[in-house]
Amino acid sequence: MNLHSGSPFWLIRNGLLAGEGTPLPHDERCEVAIIGAGVTGALVADALVAAGRDVVVLDRRGAGLGSTAASTALLQYELDVDLCDLGGMIGADRAARAFQLCHGAIERLEALSRELGGCGFTRRSSLYLASSRRDRTRLMRETEVRQGVGLPAAWWPEDRVLTRYGFASHGAILSTSAAELDPLQLTRGLLARSAAGGARVYSRTAMTEYEESGAGVVVGTSRGHEVRADRLVIAMGYEVPASLRRGLVVLNSSYALASEVVDSFGMWDDRCLVWESARPYCYLRTTPDNRVLIGGEDVPFRDPTRRDRLLPEKRKRLERHRTRLLPGLDLETAFAWAGTFGETPDGLPYVGSATDGSRTLFALGYGGNGVVFSAIAAELLVDACCGGSNPDAELFALDRNEGV
Ligand SMILES: Cc1cc2nc3c(=O)[nH]c(=O)nc-3n(C[C@H](O)[C@H](O)[C@H](O)COP(=O)(O)OP(=O)(O)OC[C@H]3O[C@@H](n4cnc5c(N)ncnc54)[C@H](O)[C@@H]3O)c2cc1C
Repeated sequence: MNLHSGSPFWLIRNGLLAGEGTPLPHDERCEVAIIGAGVTGALVADALVAAGRDVVVLDRRGAGLGSTAASTALLQYELDVDLCDLGGMIGADRAARAFQLCHGAIERLEALSRELGGCGFTRRSSLYLASSRRDRTRLMRETEVRQGVGLPAAWWPEDRVLTRYGFASHGAILSTSAAELDPLQLTRGLLARSAAGGARVYSRTAMTEYEESGAGVVVGTSRGHEVRADRLVIAMGYEVPASLRRGLVVLNSSYALASEVVDSFGMWDDRCLVWESARPYCYLRTTPDNRVLIGGEDVPFRDPTRRDRLLPEKRKRLERHRTRLLPGLDLETAFAWAGTFGETPDGLPYVGSATDGSRTLFALGYGGNGVVFSAIAAELLVDACCGGSNPDAELFALDRNEGV
């Protein structure tokens, strides 16, 4: 996200503070150095501190000022790749496990948000609209497959969707276990708790290089000081250099609008999350202060300048989608912004080390479920840093799509 363009909603809500932490004032030594104080780095830091590890977090900006501040933070167990399609790519059992892990991650995010005072976490249903007649058949099958592996999903025919919500569709899957939150509050809350538990969180300090030795990892920084650590966690979001992405993650620009406050959401009174089967898709949610967020209009990312240049055109297109989806609401746009996120062929993130025995661990490639994946990454990386094995690690291994 480029802070000089757009107006990420959560920054406006939470105050335009530069984020917690001072620049790195001296050399540091720790067990785990985390690069990136977005929601991923914050979740990893909090889990490592809870496991008794000595942690240092560095961010080139401030806490949560990367993609995290741009996120619309819909929390869904359903991935951008449908369960049926994922089953075709990686096998039905592994696909079901990935969906179930996402389902469990929402419960963990709920517990963490509660511990931190709420963080805007609210349980919602998720309505996945079939955008075409062909998608109707596909999503009916998807509903059955989800039900077959114990996931909460029900098929709603188009007349039921229209009567209940007023959304025009070819039917929809209603899932009852989704949620929304304020990603910046969660990130800052987790980092504040980590700091209270002994972590040192430094802002405006970029990692400029790192080198592994037998004994650990040495991180060079823009402040001229070094951080020496037993292990390094790279949670730099989409800013991971292309050489480290190794062609694993495709970057997309994404756009979002927040409306002015409304008095009523009309027939959409349960304020469920809404998305659709068209690709790229649009999605909707509401906010605690009664706005409508709409996002989508994704295009391949080249650089922040070109991404942000498209904002006026994307704003108009999203406003048209908003009128299409919510014809009964008279909405005015209050903020529009752009952000960047990564996408992988199977919709799953890459979490773990690039080579066996490496002391450097990655958390890469978050798509539409980025925040949920961050929670999964935290579990996997804590096990990796604490010397434990995790039976789900291979689902997210960096080498799983080699040759795809
Ligand atoms: C418009 C938009 C809407 C989205 N909507 C959703 C949604 O509805 N639901 C969902 O689950 N996900 C959504 N996502 C995805 C989600 O926001 C991301 O997956 C998530 O925020 C990634 O968090 P992160 O901590 O990995 O990355 P980031 O938040 O980008 O954090 C990475 C941090 O690393 C720092 N950094 C980078 N390079 C360096 C360096 N060299 N040295 C030190 N620090 C460095 C950055 O400053 C940044 O703070 C959306 C994303 C966008 C852009």
